[in-house]
Formats: sequence, C-alpha cells, structure tokens
Amino acid sequence: MKEVSTLIYLDNAATTKPCEQAVNAATEALMIAFGNPSSRHFAGLDADRLVIKARDAIANALSCREDEVFFTSGATESNNTAILGACENRLKRMPKVVTTTVEHPSVKAAFDKLEKMGAQVTRVAPDENGEITAKMLFDAVDEKTCLISAMLVNNETGYVLPIERAFSMIKKRYPDCITHCDAVQGFMKIQVKPSKLSADLVSVSGHKIYAPKGVGVLYVKKGVHIAPFMLGGGQEKAFRSGTENVPAIAGMGAAVEMLCKTIDERYEKANALRDYIINSINELDGVFVNSKETASPYVVSISMPNYKSETLLNYMSDRGICVSSGSACSKGKKSSVLQEFKISPERTDATLRLSFSGETQISDIDEFLKNLRNAQNELCTVKINKK
Ligand code: PMP
Repeated sequence: MKEVSTLIYLDNAATTKPCEQAVNAATEALMIAFGNPSSRHFAGLDADRLVIKARDAIANALSCREDEVFFTSGATESNNTAILGACENRLKRMPKVVTTTVEHPSVKAAFDKLEKMGAQVTRVAPDENGEITAKMLFDAVDEKTCLISAMLVNNETGYVLPIERAFSMIKKRYPDCITHCDAVQGFMKIQVKPSKLSADLVSVSGHKIYAPKGVGVLYVKKGVHIAPFMLGGGQEKAFRSGTENVPAIAGMGAAVEMLCKTIDERYEKANALRDYIINSINELDGVFVNSKETASPYVVSISMPNYKSETLLNYMSDRGICVSSGSACSKGKKSSVLQEFKISPERTDATLRLSFSGETQISDIDEFLKNLRNAQNELCTVKINKK
C-alpha cells in the first residue's frame, strides 16, 4: 500500500483524508467512550455526550435547531430517506415529483423507484448552455407536486444550482411541496443554511469534510414529517433506528468545528488554486476546462480529447497522483451527467476531475500539470468511439 502522505491527492470530492481533530475524537470514542449511547450507565452516558456534542456542532454549522439534525450512515442514506420518506403516504394526493438530470446516483435511483411506484417524475435537464435556472425548477412544480429534490453543487463539474432562489419561489407558491437539497459538495465549503435555502430537508456527508466514512446527516425542518427508513430500536427519536456510529459521529462533529473556523480562508485558497489551474490549462494546447467560471472552486473538470479518461487516470496514479475520471461512484462507467451539461462526447470520454482540500498546494497542481504534459507526449492518442 502506498503511504498516502507521499501522494498528491486531488480527489477530495470522492473522499477526504480525516483531519487530526476528527481522528482524535473518533479515537476517544473507540478507546474510552465505547458505550452504547442508549445505555443509562456512565459508559453509555459518556458516549451519548459525544453524540450530543457533535449534533450541537452540526446544528451550529447549519444554523438550525439540534433536534432538526439526524445522524445517518452517509448521504446515500440521507438522500434515500428524504426522497422516499417524503413521498410515503403523500403520493396518492400529490402524485408528482421533480428532480434534475444531474443528480448523484443516490438521488436518481430513489426517483427511479418512485416512478416504479407510480409517481409522475419530471427530471429537469440543463438548457443548451448547460444551465439549470431557478425558473426551470419552479416551472416544473405545480400544486400536485409532493417533492422537489435538487443538489446544491454538482459533484462532477462543481456547477452550483440556484437552489436558494428556486426553493424560495416554490415554497411561496406551493407551500405543501417538500423541498430537498443534496448539499454534500457544498457543506462546509460554501454557506449551507437550510432556512436560507428554503429547504425542508438537506443531506450532507461526513467523509467529504475530513470526517470518517459511514456517517452523514439529514436535516429535517421542525414540523415536516417524513416516514423513517430504518425501523427498530427507536434511536434518533425513532427517525433512524440502529445504534449510533459514535466514533464517526464524534469525528464529524470535530471536523465541522474545525471547518467552521476556517471556511472562508479555505474558500479563498481553493479559489486561488482553481484560478491557477485554469490559467495554466488555458495555455496548454489540446486541454479544455469543462467547469464554468461560476462553479465551486473546489472542483475543476478538464478534458484532453483523444486521451481516454481511464488511461490518463492510470497514468497519473502510477506517478502517485490521485484524480478521478468523473464521480467515484461511476467506477469507469460513462458519465451521463457530463453529457447532460452539454459537454461533447469527445470531451466526456477524456475527462479528469480535480478536487481540492484545504491542504492542496500550488506545487501539487504544478506536479499534476507537468505529468499532464508528459502524458500528452508519451501516451498514444486513441480514436474515441463517437456513438
Ligand atoms: N451526493 C453527492 C453529491 C455526492 O458527491 C455523494 C458522494 N459521492 C453522495 C451524495 C453520497 O454520499 P455518501 O458517500 O456519504 O453516501
């Protein structure tokens, strides 16, 4: 196994290296406060205190009440719970649901399931410029719409959707339509405040923000009732049964506390890295930037037509550089999301996604660019099948 600290890690949208604060908090939970938070003896109470502390930290970051924060196993579960739970018992009266064509598979699959259950699904696609406007989302909703779910920041391109404007228009006109936002790629990078977004439900994930894997949060606005997904022992106020993953929860709380203090400084740093890489790529022949200028600075999608993503990814990996060919979840499968953003097939097949953390340095980008130029010289170009 390669020692990760010697690698150049530019795949932070897939996952992040846990921060010291998260590792320390998780270790404390594993080694000392190992009790079951539901147990009423001191070992259980110690574990429960860690869960309460983490919930407070996350409520503070989201500017919401602590009883609106529910821990899950990650954003996949948060998304599934939000979407399926919001529609259970409501579809008969309000049979329509709305989403976009650029969502993460954990949202897409939940909508596919709703469709099989008889829901009328509208999937809003980007226009010819690759944009989804607030009006496009608003126009897709009517009084029979039970739920709209749209992401805040796209994981493959960094595209920022106009959620605040869209959801506020929707809530004003259709207050009974539940609004859900997958904010995984925005949380602790840009401001994510459910009340400001007019979101009833918001999903976030721990491992994208320097916390361990296997923990996430679903924010559920007070007064909004959605059916629980996991049934059993009644943890999380019977909303999400199952013994809490205390080490991961404590780790997520500690990471959020650390990020709350550094969010602006990190954003500026990501901005500088993004500008640097875009300017450098603009000077390179045969390489294109797919991400828009208004995208999140944490994700930059580029393409080098005639060089297959997978070949480039392996070339970089052999030289100690971790990048992605799209989203980690697609594991080499062609990304339909990039096509939805109107990126040409020549480019989608030749895409690399770079995503930054607070630790990424300009020297990491320089090393990547040096290797990209070497790849242009060393690798044979391939004719990409235009289907
Ligand atoms: N939504 C988005 C936008 C994501 O990027 C991801 C992670 N790739 C998820 C949901 C799923 O998160 P998790 O890995 O915590 O299940």
